[in-house]
This record gives sequence, C-alpha cells and structure tokens, in this order.
Amino acid sequence: MFRWAVLTSLSGQGMKIGEIELLHGRSYPGDESQNSFREQSVWHNKRSLDLHVAELLKLDPDILLGSQRQSSDFASKVSAQVSFLRKKGHIIDWNAGSRFGIWRMTDADGQSGIDAGTLEGVTATVTVPPAAVPPTTSAGLPSNFLSILTHGVKDNTYKFALARALIEFCREQRRGERNLKVPYTYLAEKFLRYYWFQACILRIRQNFKPNMPPRIITIINEIFDDGAPGSFDRLDPARVQKAKQKILKNVFGHARSKTSLVVPRFQKIRVGRESMEVQSFYEYDDDRQLLVLKPDAFDFLRDNHAMLTKVVILEWTKLLERINPSLPKLAAKLETNASAVKRRSLAEYRKLFLPYDNHCFYCRSILEPGFIDVDHVIPWSYIYDDNAWNLVLACNECNCKKSDSLPYDEFWNALISRNYRHYGEIKKLKESLDLLSRGRGWEPEVENYYTQCLEYGFGKIRLP
Ligand SMILES: [Zn+2]
Repeated sequence: MFRWAVLTSLSGQGMKIGEIELLHGRSYPGDESQNSFREQSVWHNKRSLDLHVAELLKLDPDILLGSQRQSSDFASKVSAQVSFLRKKGHIIDWNAGSRFGIWRMTDADGQSGIDAGTLEGVTATVTVPPAAVPPTTSAGLPSNFLSILTHGVKDNTYKFALARALIEFCREQRRGERNLKVPYTYLAEKFLRYYWFQACILRIRQNFKPNMPPRIITIINEIFDDGAPGSFDRLDPARVQKAKQKILKNVFGHARSKTSLVVPRFQKIRVGRESMEVQSFYEYDDDRQLLVLKPDAFDFLRDNHAMLTKVVILEWTKLLERINPSLPKLAAKLETNASAVKRRSLAEYRKLFLPYDNHCFYCRSILEPGFIDVDHVIPWSYIYDDNAWNLVLACNECNCKKSDSLPYDEFWNALISRNYRHYGEIKKLKESLDLLSRGRGWEPEVENYYTQCLEYGFGKIRLP
C-alpha cells in the first residue's frame, strides 16, 4: 500500500498558481531538512489526498484511483504533466528545490517512512517569469512583440515579414472596422511584395547560406527570372498569381505536412533553453488557411503601427547587416514599400553638371534640353542615395538601356577622372567626395562601391 505525500507550491514572481496544500499521509519522512514543513501538514485520507493530487496536476482522477496506480506510472504521469506545463510557458527546474514535490510513501506496517530512500523522486520548482506567461491583458503585448523579434530561432527573416504584414493588415482597415481574420493568401501576397523587392531589385540576401536561400527566394527567382520592371504593380499578373500560390503551398502550407513553419513559429519565444509558443497575438487554423488575431493584439498593432513598423525594420536590418555586411543603406531599403518607392528629383544635378559638359556621359551625343537624364553610375537600387560623385548626365536612350547595371571599366575610369576634374569647381561634388574620404582619399572608397556592387550580383552592361 502506498500513500502520497504532496507538497505543492506552484508560485513564481509573486504570482501564486497553486497552493501550499498538504503533506503526507501519516507522518513526515524522516528527512530533517524538511522538518520546517511539518507544521503545515494537512492530514488527508488516502482518497481525498489522491483526488487533490489529481486536481492540482489536472490529471484524470482515474489514473490515481484506478488500477494503474503504480508509483512508476504515477511518476510518469506527473512528468507528462510537468512537460505540459512547460509548453504552456511555465519554467520548471527539476530537482532545483522541493517546493513542489510528490513522494510515494509506504505504511504497510503502520510505520510511515520514505520508500527506497529517494521515494519516486519527482521534485520540481515552478517559476513563471513575466514574459513567459501568456498575457491575460494587453500589458504583455509590447514585451511579447519584442521577444518575438529579438529572441528565438532566426535562420531566415520570415518572422519579420510576418510581423510587418500583420501590422499592415491592421493598419489598412478603416476606422471602426475590426476584421480579425487574416487569410494566408493575404500574407502570401505581402511576403511576395517584400521579398520580390528585396531579392529582385535590391539583391539583399536573406540567410547565411548563399546556395540555400529561403524557399520564398527560390520561388521568386524561378518565376521572375528574366529581370524585373522597377515596380511590383507592373509585374505580370499571371506570374504574380503563380508565385502567390507557390508561397501559399511552400511557405505557409500546413503544419501536418510540416511545411507551415511561419505562422506556428512566429509566436515561439525562447526562454533560457526552452522554446515555447505564446499565443498572445493570434490563433491559427491551417485547415482553413487563416489566422485569427486576438482583439487586443489587433488594437495594439493598429494603434502603434508606425512605431512597430520601425521596430520590425530595425530588427530585420540588424540581421540582414550580418548577412550582407557591405550592402549600403539597408535600413532605408527595408523601410521602403515595394510599391511606393519615393525618389527625389534630380533636376538640381542637371543644372550643376550641364555648364561643364553637355554631352551624354556614355554615347557622347549632344544633350538636347528636355531629354537630359541624370544617371546613377553605380545603380541607385544598390547605393540607395543621390551622391553627386555618382551622378552623370545621359541621354534618355543610354539611361534606359543601362537601367540598374554597372558600366564597363572605361566609363568607370571616366567617372573617376570627371570627379578629379571638377572636384575644385563644383561645391556639391567636392562635399560628396569629402564625405567618402576616410584618411586615404575618396578613390579607394569609390572603387569599393563598384566591386561590392558587382559582388551583390549587379551585372555589367556594354554601352552605348
Ligand atoms: Zn547616350
């Protein structure tokens, strides 16, 4: 015959989950270090004790009362319960203390005592840090949002894309509207926009394995393999549709087929060595291919959308900087919305350079007023800025042909000499070159841009 001695104190961070309730059946085990608990003993008869254990651990009472009430079985049930609590966000350190313990006791001869020295040895301390508890109020959302972005597994950048898409979903709704259902198709389209722009236009790498890009990049490269127009909204609708379908299948997919990694993984937070899912933003349904935002999460994302987008961009940038160490202006690039690329007017540079040279930089034809383009020699989509040292005047034809490619060496040398020639004459040019110089003059820095731009896959084109 066995009895159970149970000491429960499921508390942490000042929050009491369970109660210190009861100790043992007849007399306390002869462990002197535990004597302090003796006063708290509550006597139970066997049945009520078992029921109480069952209730505290949310176990089926049959397990305790039924025929399987073998101590080893009970211990394994308790283990299962403990791992369940872990998944729910409680951190449980085995044997770290005895605030929560279950002992098997024997009273076969009326003499209670410890059975086989260590009893069944199920002891654990349960502590619950604030971030690990699924929040019951919206107060937990900001810290959970940050935890999602800054902690946890990051082999690629999907979680940033998902965070951004959810923020946009909430922001796009009209005042008073509160549609909480986010179809995976909506997310697939957003993902396509972000990654198409970053992969095809900006050539940003999204993970550390250049030969094994994330699935979405492979899909985009396969479907948009022949160069791309500068704006997402001008893409061929049939191909956009095809890409969305593939993303839906291979990036969102279904948890059962182990393809759906983005949505379930997003809410996983790493705490110590544990990784757990905190469903504070949404619940999801792979069968219906949608997720449902929690109302307070919706309000949080919508009310703070501008600030939260900045947070997402910052964290996304930080990761991409490690993957793309020499790619300039990453934060600005990420902040840009693929369909609303704002570019400043370059008219002032036309006025600046025209008095010195009124020929096309590439074909040397005379520039006709009204048909004079200002061209970024190192493509704008790489350098992402208007620097006088990188700007030249070109005819419309050459400018269009060049698009976002680099010119061959002869024009590169021509640019360097142009910059030397007018360094002292054009103030804005001088300023932009001085800004580059870091102790060894501007020329090596300009060379650097050229080499690195090539490394990121911007091709060379024969001009004129
Ligand atoms: Zn030309």
